Amino acid sequence: MEIKKGIAVSSGVVVCRAWLLSDDELHIDRREITPSEVPAERKRLLKAVAASSDDLRDLRDKTTRSLGKETGAIFDYHLGLLNDQHLLDDFAGRIENQHCSAEYAVRRTLRDFSKAFFDQPDPLFKDRVKDVYDLERRLLIKLMGKGRMRLAGVKDPLVLVAKDLTPSQTANLDKSIVRAIAIEAGGQTSHTAIIANSMGIPAVVGVEDLVRDVSSGDLLIVNGYSGVVIVNPDEATVTEHRLYEQRQMRFETRLDQMRDLPALTRDGTPIELLGNIEFPSEVDNALHKGAQGIGLYRTEFLYLASDKEPTEEDHYNAYASVAEKLKGKPLIIRTLDLGADKFWPHGEKTVEDNPFLGCRSIRLCLANHRIFKVQLRAILRASVLGDVRIMFPMISSPMELKQAHMLLKDAMDECYDLGVPFRRDIPVGIMIEVPAAALMANVLAREVNFFSIGTNDLIQYTLAVDRGNQRVAPLFTAAHPAVLALLRDVMRISRKRKISTSLCGEMGGDPQFTIFLVGLGLRSLSITPHNIPKIKQVLRNITIKDAEKIARRVMSFEQPQQILNFLNDETRKVLPDIFSEEPLPLLTPAGAAAGG
Ligand code: PEP
Ligand code: MG
Repeated sequence: MEIKKGIAVSSGVVVCRAWLLSDDELHIDRREITPSEVPAERKRLLKAVAASSDDLRDLRDKTTRSLGKETGAIFDYHLGLLNDQHLLDDFAGRIENQHCSAEYAVRRTLRDFSKAFFDQPDPLFKDRVKDVYDLERRLLIKLMGKGRMRLAGVKDPLVLVAKDLTPSQTANLDKSIVRAIAIEAGGQTSHTAIIANSMGIPAVVGVEDLVRDVSSGDLLIVNGYSGVVIVNPDEATVTEHRLYEQRQMRFETRLDQMRDLPALTRDGTPIELLGNIEFPSEVDNALHKGAQGIGLYRTEFLYLASDKEPTEEDHYNAYASVAEKLKGKPLIIRTLDLGADKFWPHGEKTVEDNPFLGCRSIRLCLANHRIFKVQLRAILRASVLGDVRIMFPMISSPMELKQAHMLLKDAMDECYDLGVPFRRDIPVGIMIEVPAAALMANVLAREVNFFSIGTNDLIQYTLAVDRGNQRVAPLFTAAHPAVLALLRDVMRISRKRKISTSLCGEMGGDPQFTIFLVGLGLRSLSITPHNIPKIKQVLRNITIKDAEKIARRVMSFEQPQQILNFLNDETRKVLPDIFSEEPLPLLTPAGAAAGG
């Protein structure tokens, strides 16, 4: 039995046999052709390009229908690559000049092309290499007449194990067969992770030496909560996890029954529970889980899932589709939070030494008025379709907020001049996710209608701990007294200024912090939809008076672990079985006890 650690990107626990997707399925030898064979070889190539283009168009339409336009647009990028005249000339040139087969021309040209991508310093270019491999594979299969992924013939459930999966491979997976994904490559924002998550397939990425250490047929446990993969577990571990898996399913079904119950504390205080989404297609699930609206729409994914810069129409269509589904429920559209770990490879090419401290988020928008205003106009146009609100991320000074307001005013004037209807009184808020904003909340409160506390970044910037770095993961904790003191102070100001304040970081979806957050005065949380039922269950079992007492006590502790132990005990007192379905201790990575 071997325990491996990766990054959890899509939740769920699965015990199942591995199926290894090997890289060397398509061997291409160099085959010389005679000059007289050149025209026929070129014709074969063009036929393969045309057939692949047809497949890609089908795949794009199918993916758009099932997962939304942004995800489908990934295949537009493949189509664009495939029909690039330079590339087609390169293929033909090799056949003609080197007298090689179409297969060999495709492999060599695309391998050179992917090498050029890989040599770029920007890591997101490296990420695009898999798109090129995907295309190569597609063309070769057409040329060689092989079936699609060998997986097509497999009937039994499996865990798909690979070095990497391309976006189209992932989107093509049959959920009834592929129960989980475990791969070596990838990060939280890779296309593969995004698609696995939208499809609801439990997934762990970034697992070192997985392909070396796993063979098809090995039994695997994949834990999409903790990011752990266990290879060939012993019988006792399997039994334990199979039971855990069944309990998990029962638990989720039971929790789903919470959906129609009101989100009220035991003494009748309503607590608003909103959902966080990245794609419009996630709204239905958020509503299904009981979300009372969308408190964080991470719009940068509109860019990340597309190779073309989204137009105002693309923005508008995405926002309009969400607003229409919400039927008047609140929709907080966060303006682009690009940069740091969310690079759009087709945009600005500047490589920064410290991207998390660099031209990220609102800074990037303030430096690129054109891009920002395209988005602002689209949000304004959608504002008449429901309770749409705007939220600026990463604000760190009153000046930045002033500039953002000015650009919003410009966008309003432009809409007005064009006769486009919009709400001039659209509520405008900011994320409190930089310590400077938390410390200046008193001043910032004068200029906005609402705050939303982004604990993911607030923790990162307060504790100087990179939120994506495994090596310092144990230091990343919401339970640090410095973080809690900032939350307490923001809530005090929010009460004093009567400014509505929500919290949209992962901390809000972690049940061990619910009592504390309510005790601090939070009456709105925006969380991953999956966690809504669980948080609602805690809320319905606590009283405001008890929560306030507990929050005061928490603020008296000096050590994160004391705080976590105390909150765990208090939560169990009201709901003894609340953590019983959490990942087993064996599967909990170091430091995971502290939510983000
Ligand atoms: C946050 O920082 O807490 C947040 C919600 O934003 P993101 O996770 O998108 O940075
Ligand atoms: Mg953030």
